Amino acid sequence: MSRKPAIIGAMDSEIAMYLEHGEVLQEHSWHEFTFYEMNLNGTPCIVSKSGIGKVLAAMTCQHLIDKFEPSEIIFTGVAGALNTKLDIGDVIVSRDCMQHDIDGRALGFPRGTILFSDKSLFNADERLHDIAMSAYVDGHEIYSGRILTGDQFFTHKDIEEHSYLYDEMNGDCIEMEGGAIGLVCNENKIPFVIVRTISDKADGSAAEDFSKLHHLVAGNSYSIVSQMLPKL
Ligand code: SAH
Repeated sequence: MSRKPAIIGAMDSEIAMYLEHGEVLQEHSWHEFTFYEMNLNGTPCIVSKSGIGKVLAAMTCQHLIDKFEPSEIIFTGVAGALNTKLDIGDVIVSRDCMQHDIDGRALGFPRGTILFSDKSLFNADERLHDIAMSAYVDGHEIYSGRILTGDQFFTHKDIEEHSYLYDEMNGDCIEMEGGAIGLVCNENKIPFVIVRTISDKADGSAAEDFSKLHHLVAGNSYSIVSQMLPKL
């Protein structure tokens, strides 16, 4: 069996375009998850939806690896902006990612470091990163950056309280799955990259912006990933 790339999104809106534009050859179910073996514009690949948050993302990712032995994993989806240069619709391609809500400071571990380990920042595969960066999205910018991941939907009104996300952790955008994908891929030695379109600014308007825009802007991540597939 030749190894195929795998694509994961957290929500239906993040994988809908893949299912619409590609041809589903076979479906595989495991617990509540469905894995689609597909042909997308002539490229065989596997697409699946994880659901939201780090635990479901980790489950999906590990099962994908065990069952399909993918050549690489690409996460496709939306995120809240932390970096003020980002506009809604712009895209962040992960240079690296980190779990911002792991906090063992009381025991002397820096924020984001898994306690009693040196695991914190997970680097995306350079080749996948560069292929994603060479894509094009009409009317929007594609930036390389750091993705921060945690099990909270961020709508911070008081920037001061969360300034560590920018100042200490140097995050460009915030979401709920990427750091789990990074950790699982790192443990399994599978190359990965995360492609996130900005759906909101993780601020007081985030819930409203996200609800209105996530299915529209998710198309930018799809566009980049579909440009990547023939180049893998
Ligand atoms: N669809 C759900 C909530 C989705 S949670 C509902 O309406 O009930 C938000 C999803 O988008 C997560 O998968 C996360 O990765 C991403 N995301 C977008 N903006 C975010 C933000 N401001 N904070 C955290 N995650 C965000």
